[in-house]
Amino acid sequence: MSRIVYVNGQYVPEDQAMVSIFDRGFLMADGVYEVTTVLGGKLIDFHGHAARLTRSLGELEMAPPLNAENLLQIHRELVSRNGLDEGLIYLQVTRGAPGDRDFSFPDPAKTPSSLVMFTQSLPYLIDNPAAKRGLKVISIDDIRWGRRDIKTVQLLYPSMGKMMAKKAGCDDAWLVEDGLVTEGTSNNAHIVKDGVIITRHLSSDILHGITRAAVLRFARSAQMKVEERAFTLEEAKAADEAFITSASAFVLPVVEIDGAPVGTGTPGPVAAKLREIYLDESLKTAI
Ligand code: PMP
Repeated sequence: MSRIVYVNGQYVPEDQAMVSIFDRGFLMADGVYEVTTVLGGKLIDFHGHAARLTRSLGELEMAPPLNAENLLQIHRELVSRNGLDEGLIYLQVTRGAPGDRDFSFPDPAKTPSSLVMFTQSLPYLIDNPAAKRGLKVISIDDIRWGRRDIKTVQLLYPSMGKMMAKKAGCDDAWLVEDGLVTEGTSNNAHIVKDGVIITRHLSSDILHGITRAAVLRFARSAQMKVEERAFTLEEAKAADEAFITSASAFVLPVVEIDGAPVGTGTPGPVAAKLREIYLDESLKTAI
């Protein structure tokens, strides 16, 4: 069965979906995106993702294509039309297709932003074997631009990082700037030392992960200690545990950094507990 996707106001089979070659998302990576997870046909933390989308658009002076209520309705329609049980919904807004290539932003009154959304079915999000196995990461230089808090579609370097990790027989890369870990290629990075969860504080150096925020909130409610500060790669290697968070990974343990085991080199109890709490709590509030 062909997937039904959403393109600028219309639901169409995926092979009939089209965007202009003049779209600024295509020509200039002038676009932002969100990924919302679907579990049991329901959306996890939709309002968090909608709020971050509004912020990303605002930072780039891009007109919101629709309000959150309308976006929610399209998310639900896509879930229903595609019979999606477990997976994700990808949403992308770009500054539209002005007709010619020009560095200056087009007048938003003449060039409306483009909105594209589609589903991806991923049946092993909850029963992810990586939760038991743990991830192996390499460290690489963080050479991305300085506004990583805006969720733009400029994902070439993170893609290259993933490929560097694969070539090294690993799962992912942690990005390092001035000796300090910023985040993973597509996730936030955390470590645990002497029972304290340490994770980089929010700034324009990292994406403000929706899952990061939820996990830290749940950790604090469970009386776990959390320190939001930058940590060095050396600290990460000497930590008792390490883990990542993202909308589709939830919480996944990291068991090896640059070939050296983290702690015992096996998934640790804090990451396992946080994954369990995150899934329990998120499923309760899924809409
Ligand atoms: N950092 C980066 C660079 C990411 O791409 C992502 C996922 N899009 C995250 C962190 C995690 O964010 P979230 O928890 O909102 O998925």
